Amino acid sequence: MAEPNSVRIVGGGLAGCAAALAALRAGAEPSLFDPSRISRHRVCGEFLSPEVRQSLEGLGVWEVAAACGPALMHRMEVHFGKRICADRLPEPAIGLSRLRLDHLLRDAAVGGGCLYVPERTEPSAGCVLATGRQSAAPSGDRIFGFKTHFSGPARDTVELYFGDRFYVGVNPVEAGITNVCGLAPESLLRGLNFDYDALLGLSPALAERTRPLTRAMAWLTTGPLVYGRTEQPLDLYAAGDAFSFIDPFTGAGMLNALESGRMAGTAAARQDSPAAYRAAVGKRLGRPLFMASLFRKVLEAGVGKLLAPWIPGRWLFSLTRPR
Ligand SMILES: Cc1cc2nc3c(=O)[nH]c(=O)nc-3n(C[C@H](O)[C@H](O)[C@H](O)COP(=O)(O)OP(=O)(O)OC[C@H]3O[C@@H](n4cnc5c(N)ncnc54)[C@H](O)[C@@H]3O)c2cc1C
Repeated sequence: MAEPNSVRIVGGGLAGCAAALAALRAGAEPSLFDPSRISRHRVCGEFLSPEVRQSLEGLGVWEVAAACGPALMHRMEVHFGKRICADRLPEPAIGLSRLRLDHLLRDAAVGGGCLYVPERTEPSAGCVLATGRQSAAPSGDRIFGFKTHFSGPARDTVELYFGDRFYVGVNPVEAGITNVCGLAPESLLRGLNFDYDALLGLSPALAERTRPLTRAMAWLTTGPLVYGRTEQPLDLYAAGDAFSFIDPFTGAGMLNALESGRMAGTAAARQDSPAAYRAAVGKRLGRPLFMASLFRKVLEAGVGKLLAPWIPGRWLFSLTRPR
């Protein structure tokens, strides 16, 4: 009988764990390298688009995720000052904290027989590269992400508040917690001494929305953020943010990480060529990645407020999803 292929996975976030689970399913022996503890919060909006359910089912972990009691969202609201675009989501979206999601994925991978190595390592030819987004940023007004959890009345809605040079997402996750997560340029944050509570006050609608809530943890910061595709060696399988980092407001980053991770783990286990893998990922995720970069340019140009009344929320939602 043929020996199982070994698959080396560098990075044990969503893409890396999805790759490990897919490699196990394809009969390979994966090893997962990541020095980071998983029992920590990550800066993330924790909004999972509806297709994530299918992804998690395919990886065999949906039932465990469902047992965590994720929040379900049926509506979306986009606030540009006093202008609000509201719509029903085509299917319910899911709110689940990264603390829970990262944990359950890594537990499932290790429980399924993946070797976990708690070390940082260098990528090599043929490995799955799932090291997340690059951290070096060009000079200029760098963008940072921030996040916290609030307790208090939760809504079954994903809300996006666009202010002058910043935006903040508000959505429920499990256990009645509300995630508040946003992005802003360094110059704006420095002017506020990185006081994110003060930033919420810059938008009257956001201040009003968060008034009945009580902050349940300290604010976390990440960045600087670099959008787009990273140049990677061609002899490996890059997945998740290491393949391409898209603007978080699309809420499709985790779906892309799970999908490309699954495809990378399967391709590496079968020893498909990395070029064939890249072509397959491009086919599946090319359109949402392109649309996300287009919407970012619209936001950067400051014309979102003018276009908002003409762009149906459902349209924006479906264009940033994989086919
Ligand atoms: C502010 C913000 C808000 C977001 N909100 C949302 C949202 O609401 N919905 C959504 O779908 N997406 C959102 N995203 C995007 C989402 O967080 C990412 O797309 C997702 O985390 C990508 O997963 P990943 O596995 O590629 O990378 P990560 O989750 O970053 O995992 C990478 C892992 O690689 C490890 N690593 C790095 N280098 C090495 C090395 N040399 N050796 C070993 N290990 C290494 C790291 O320790 C880390 O654990 C948001 C992102 C940001 C910044």
